[in-house]
Amino acid sequence: MQTISDFIIDYEFLSKYDLKSLQQNLLLPFANDTIYTKYFKCLGSNTSNIVEKNLIQYIDVSSSDINFFLSDFKHRYDLFSLSKRAVNSENINHTFIEDFFSLLIKNSIKKRASDIHIESSEFLTTIRLRIDGILKVFFNLDKKFNTIISSYIKMYSNLDIAQRRLAQDGRFNFNFDDEKYDFRVSIIPTILGESIVIRILDNKSVEKNISNLNFSKNILSTLKETIKLTQGLILISGPTGSGKTTTLYAILKELNNNTKKIITIEDPVEYKIKNIQQININDKIGLSFENILKNILRQDPDIILIGEIRDTFSLKIALQASLTGHLVLASIHSNDCVETISRLFDLDADLFLIANTLKYVISQRLILNICQYCKNKKCEKCNFTGFINRSPIVEVLKINKNISSMIYEKQDLEKIREFLQKNKHKTMFDDGMIKVNEQISTLEELQKIIHL
Ligand SMILES: [Zn+2]
Repeated sequence: MQTISDFIIDYEFLSKYDLKSLQQNLLLPFANDTIYTKYFKCLGSNTSNIVEKNLIQYIDVSSSDINFFLSDFKHRYDLFSLSKRAVNSENINHTFIEDFFSLLIKNSIKKRASDIHIESSEFLTTIRLRIDGILKVFFNLDKKFNTIISSYIKMYSNLDIAQRRLAQDGRFNFNFDDEKYDFRVSIIPTILGESIVIRILDNKSVEKNISNLNFSKNILSTLKETIKLTQGLILISGPTGSGKTTTLYAILKELNNNTKKIITIEDPVEYKIKNIQQININDKIGLSFENILKNILRQDPDIILIGEIRDTFSLKIALQASLTGHLVLASIHSNDCVETISRLFDLDADLFLIANTLKYVISQRLILNICQYCKNKKCEKCNFTGFINRSPIVEVLKINKNISSMIYEKQDLEKIREFLQKNKHKTMFDDGMIKVNEQISTLEELQKIIHL
């Protein structure tokens, strides 16, 4: 089935129509040849995909698709014409591409995107934005535009413009609305052109703290307990993009007063925090993860954040450090709290050390929030999805005496789960149900992220 995302929408052609009446009639004309004028139209659910009436060809699409592609009209129009001019100029014209790029960045920030994807397919250059964790086609442009924009981005982020056969990564800054934004760029050649991903590092994330991250009340009070610790190990688990880093930073900020030395090992450092020694892993020059770990205790730290426990060695250092009077925070790849314990078993850690140092295991996901501007009716603020922003749903496992001895005895995971169930342990699903009952999110969204 064809969707709007398969077509180049000619915004110059579209601008000849009255925008208001297009919006009212849920109609989006996208091409005109001598026989047909082609439209996208929301025809309801009972019609076939393509309907022809009086030399008008309709392609049936959802109303939210039409609304989305008609939103930000001025921006889309400007971006479209700038790209067209850049493609049609005989020499690479920096003004067009420069204006295009800056407009694209500004628009993406306004739309709260975390990443901009510029991709190449057989006939198109596609720009997609990741907003609240979900990629959405923002619009399609001429295939030829891919090379032009990739050269410009390489120049802008000090990369090798001539290099089109190997992967490159870089960084750049951009000022917008009196704020400085940092960006990370990755460019990789594909069989159909270059794939460019620009990550927007939202410096406002640094302002987030455990009180304004939308944790449920009971989770918040448990997290406040963790901050009172002076030694031991706290592990946080969840897949990539589950908000682990934001939670870890929020906890670090609570711990951050000038009486403590805090060191972090990150790959890479995403946000800078005042008064914290943040170390960026740099394998190219030999500042490896292992090398930093070996030396970190000589820095006389009180608190250490290890970006990720990725192997037996990093776990060993984390355990040693937490046994010798340091508080260690680290993230680890696993699905929930009990699985985290099994991951520790797999990493062949000393059971006595784990049983004696592990204090808390935290697991989390992010759940989409119902748009407060339209309460699910779909509006421009939520890009016609009905959802805006995300909240964490969390499971916290406090390692008490019982759990600690079960770890020491290397008990079956099922036994640990049974024990927790008997003791009314709250899972991530339980925390999600609080969000559903408070009408912050929906059961459908919860079931999408937690498969029972
Ligand atoms: Zn809305």
